[in-house]
Amino acid sequence: MKHMTHYICTGGCGGSTDVPGVCQAETCPKHGAPLTACDCTDGEHFGLQDLHKTEKDKEEENNK
Ligand SMILES: [Zn+2]
Ligand SMILES: [Zn+2]
Repeated sequence: MKHMTHYICTGGCGGSTDVPGVCQAETCPKHGAPLTACDCTDGEHFGLQDLHKTEKDKEEENNK
């Protein structure tokens, strides 16, 4: 992964892009809200994204 600034949504949709902008996910609570600049190098985004929701989504997938 390159070390460069990226932009993430903290609304729980897990969106991230390489360019500034707003959340594109229509189902996201932060749809249309500005993305947050992040320069992490491990893909964890310093915990800025809603990791609990990610874990819950995984749980639901396991229950299928
Ligand atoms: Zn979002
Ligand atoms: Zn990041």
